Amino acid sequence: MKISVFGAGYVGLVAAACFAESGNTVIAVDIDQKKIEGLKNGIIPIYEPGLKELILRNQSEGRLSFTTDMVEAVEQSLIQFIAVGTPPGEDGSADLQYVLAVGRTIGQHMNGFKIIVDKSTVPVGTADKVRLAVQEELEKRSSHLEFDVVSNPEFLKEGAAIDDFMKPDRVVVGTDNVRTAEIMKELYDPFMRKQSRMIIMDIRSAEMTKYAANAMLATRISFMNQIAGLCERMGADVAAVREGIGSDSRIGYDFLFPGPGYGGSCFPKDVKALIRTAEESNYDFLLLKAVEEVNELQKEVLANKLIKTLGSADEEQPLTGKIVACWGLSFKPRTDDMREAPSLTIIERLLAAGATVRAHDPEALAEAKKHFGDRIEYSTNQYEILDNADALTVITDWHEYRNPDFDRIKAALKQPLIVDGRNLYKPNRMKETGIRYIPLGRAGNG
Ligand code: NAD
Repeated sequence: MKISVFGAGYVGLVAAACFAESGNTVIAVDIDQKKIEGLKNGIIPIYEPGLKELILRNQSEGRLSFTTDMVEAVEQSLIQFIAVGTPPGEDGSADLQYVLAVGRTIGQHMNGFKIIVDKSTVPVGTADKVRLAVQEELEKRSSHLEFDVVSNPEFLKEGAAIDDFMKPDRVVVGTDNVRTAEIMKELYDPFMRKQSRMIIMDIRSAEMTKYAANAMLATRISFMNQIAGLCERMGADVAAVREGIGSDSRIGYDFLFPGPGYGGSCFPKDVKALIRTAEESNYDFLLLKAVEEVNELQKEVLANKLIKTLGSADEEQPLTGKIVACWGLSFKPRTDDMREAPSLTIIERLLAAGATVRAHDPEALAEAKKHFGDRIEYSTNQYEILDNADALTVITDWHEYRNPDFDRIKAALKQPLIVDGRNLYKPNRMKETGIRYIPLGRAGNG
């Protein structure tokens, strides 16, 4: 099939590469000239495991190309994927300007029947708005060309995006057209395994499904963060509690780890957008408001623990003269994405408290520099930042932090202290190391 993908970001690039890998001819189109020039020359703008190899192979075999030429992208393909950003607007609702701009572009240049597939995360009712945007452009051209608008939300996880796309648990397609449903089935057939399901539904339900999924996951995270807060105060161990509740098949183990709060480009904005959607329908989504509030508070927890343990009596800047080393900046491992990362709040808080902050991240240093500039120190060596520091705090659970050299950590830190925002280490083992250890939701040794 011939496919164009508008938006060469995390979702667009992965979708374009995977569709090309399954034999389709794919054009990835973006308004960012620099990004497209780079991609043409094999420079991949994001870090996502396996993506570079996939893009380079399909590019060299002629199935995947990159362009800024909207006319070419619209004319050449039957299927037009919209995978542009939908950032939060000022009131928290999803900003649809990029999605609707693509709709207008398609309306301006389409030369035959097109299937317009919305892969961006968009509020219920957006397909109607896209339809209208396309229709208005066609009317300006006095054209009667036909088109169909489909909702096909994306569920990939950054850091495991290729695998998620290639082996989806489910593919959700919202359409009211049987013929289009068949084409979508054919398109996704190469990715479907025994365990995968394609779920065809009406468009509005498909649009809602994506928000409901992310809102549910965010709810689990905030719920577990509050259970962890209570465990700490009651002398219970959140890890044992997770084992205990996760074994219930109605609950399961996933997404029940305490941490420094959820971040990234999806959960925060999608939770906000769903609250806003509810408000627009005069419906108060009380639960989600609490989920969001808990998350904001959770981002303060690590800094609070550091201030409580290391801080002076100075109310304004209790960490003056203290050096805090941070392991992990991206919002989760295996990505360089820093959008709404908890590290942003944590580090700002530490800086405001007067601390000197040093940071390590395997992939996100360049992104972090855009936020912090020279206000913090960076290193590509996770141990280098520990020299003479007062504490190490673990913010992101990158693999390389799981089994560190504790002797080296102890020798490097001034007064060995780890505040662990991901509960990576066993409290018993930490006792043996002689490092003061403060985890989340369970007893440490400090
Ligand atoms: P992104 O910001 O990484 O990429 C968006 C791209 O769209 C940018 O390169 C931008 O230049 C381009 N763009 C903007 N306007 C354009 C236009 N008119 N024509 C062509 N390109 C244009 O965004 P992303 O993270 O890939 O997210 C895209 C959508 O997918 C969002 O709605 C997001 O919520 C959703 N989503 C994201 C993820 C994720 O993990 N990142 C997962 C599932 C769904």
